[in-house]
Amino acid sequence: MNRVETMDGLRQSPKVDVCVLGGGINGLSVFRELALQGVNVLLVEQGDYCSGASAALSRMVHGGLRYLENGEFSLVQESLVERDRLLRNAPHYVAPLPTMVPVFDVFSGLANGIVRFLGLTRRPSRRGAVAIKTGLAIYDFLTRKRALMPRHQFRGRRATLAKWPALNPGIRSSATYYDAWVSHPERIGIELLRDGLSAGPHARALNYATIEQAGAGDFQLRDGIAGETFRIQPTLVINATGGWIDIANGSIFPEGARPEPLMGGTKGSHLIIDNPALRDMLDGHMIYYENEDGRICILFPYLGKVLVGSTDIRVDDPGTVRCESDERDYILQSLAFVLPGIRIRPEEIVFQFAGVRPLPASKDSFTGRIPRDHFCTVIERGDGGPPVLCMIGGKWTTFRSFGELAADMVLERLGRPRRINTAERAFGGGRAFPQDSGGWVRDLAASTGISIDRAAILFARYGTEADDVVRFIAAAPDHPLPHAGYSLREIQYLIHAEAVEHLDDLLLRRTTLAISGELSLDMADAVLGLLAAERGWSAERAAEEHIRFLTIMRERHGVAETTLSARNERRSELCETTARSG
Ligand SMILES: Cc1cc2nc3c(=O)[nH]c(=O)nc-3n(C[C@H](O)[C@H](O)[C@H](O)COP(=O)(O)OP(=O)(O)OC[C@H]3O[C@@H](n4cnc5c(N)ncnc54)[C@H](O)[C@@H]3O)c2cc1C
Repeated sequence: MNRVETMDGLRQSPKVDVCVLGGGINGLSVFRELALQGVNVLLVEQGDYCSGASAALSRMVHGGLRYLENGEFSLVQESLVERDRLLRNAPHYVAPLPTMVPVFDVFSGLANGIVRFLGLTRRPSRRGAVAIKTGLAIYDFLTRKRALMPRHQFRGRRATLAKWPALNPGIRSSATYYDAWVSHPERIGIELLRDGLSAGPHARALNYATIEQAGAGDFQLRDGIAGETFRIQPTLVINATGGWIDIANGSIFPEGARPEPLMGGTKGSHLIIDNPALRDMLDGHMIYYENEDGRICILFPYLGKVLVGSTDIRVDDPGTVRCESDERDYILQSLAFVLPGIRIRPEEIVFQFAGVRPLPASKDSFTGRIPRDHFCTVIERGDGGPPVLCMIGGKWTTFRSFGELAADMVLERLGRPRRINTAERAFGGGRAFPQDSGGWVRDLAASTGISIDRAAILFARYGTEADDVVRFIAAAPDHPLPHAGYSLREIQYLIHAEAVEHLDDLLLRRTTLAISGELSLDMADAVLGLLAAERGWSAERAAEEHIRFLTIMRERHGVAETTLSARNERRSELCETTARSG
């Protein structure tokens, strides 16, 4: 069902069982859960899918080692179960990540951890070998039955420095354990969306749309693309707007009946660094380290670059956040502390991003100590309007179990049974994932006439959904785009299949072109040309998109137009060198 058909259907029949507000990973997860149970569900997202916190995470799929010191054992256990499920259900995007923790002390952090556990202090402190060993032993214990990845091990100082010579020589030892990482979290959001939509016409979703209170039981749906409004009547509303939850409640409850604040978000920022020496030195490992102030920071190889983060700063409005220069300095200082031999030049920062952790309201002065757990609360309304189920908190890793929890509460209220359990349900390009990926790629190439190299790129990008992409590509003439890894037909496929409304949807979320620092101005213009042709945009409309995209890149991601056009020149130099040497 396309956007116009969805709108027409809602205009003719404005009643829906459930309206989910917010299309981040948690909103998409509960949408999918309800859609698969046959519930008449509509999701509305004010921007693009997964454009809030769900595009700003550290890209770790993890139990949360440090939540153990806050005593959040059940959260860590649930997260580890979900981590392991994601390794099985989404193997195309979620993979094991060996993680090294540098240790600077032996006993520190232990006494503080115990007092903190007893509730006598909230102050962060440095963690020594014994505290880290205890945490990792609990991690191994919680995963002992599934044992998908190796147990932790310690290395002495000499062995650690032999493997990672650039490390701060002040270390005493290091511990290595396994967690996981996600390469394309925004694409996982789209896969959940498509899994939900595939359940039938009772499941509908709109990005660039929202609802506002209109009258008792009535809401005004505002379509941000066509600029239209019309009424809808949900039996129940789910507020899954993450860091926006209180702002969203402000627009769906009548004045005077607005609930107490539920959320107290903290901002976190990350940098993507193009420094091959740093990337190679990591040897495929994450370094999970504490900065001098006791805050945990991370760095690991990401799409050929290095991802480093993050900060933790209280904020009120998630709509305006970006990585500020003092955060950039903090991240670089933390990097210089753990790896003093490595210097990062400003031009090596090829992308940056920020987002707001949707944490429950808390007066804790140490942001790292605010509970990371999630829960749902239902707010009944006195005006005869539908109840609002609010989803509070939630890590990316636990999106499935959080969506399941919210959906079960809704099903109980609606008196509907659960038909499908998603715990072991592979999705998107993780379905029918082959043991022998090389063989799968060769078969795809042989059956469609595409080259093996191209089939391998598409498999790495889309998992087994590469099959659909290749068949679409093969149905009409194709040609490469300025970024040779992508072709005209591949971008057209994404425009057709993945609810693309703006250029930034394509370049920031359906593809990894922007975050990987590989996007040039030529490529952005070529993709804009394709989108404009598909949507029938006028030259003025296309020019507006161009400006919108450059503004987002400059203001949100620290990438200037001159940087993008310099990449054009670099690319043509590369082509000339290749041609000469060829
Ligand atoms: C810096 C940082 C690092 C993190 N690292 C990790 C990590 O490594 N691993 C991990 O598991 N988790 C991590 N997290 C947490 C994780 O990213 C979030 O918990 C998760 O993405 C929250 O998803 P969400 O759907 O609740 O919120 P969001 O993704 O923010 O989605 C909420 C959506 O609601 C929409 N919305 C708002 N108001 C309205 C409205 N009125 N109408 C319609 N739509 C509306 C917004 O546009 C937004 O898209 C991190 C978070 C941050 C910020």
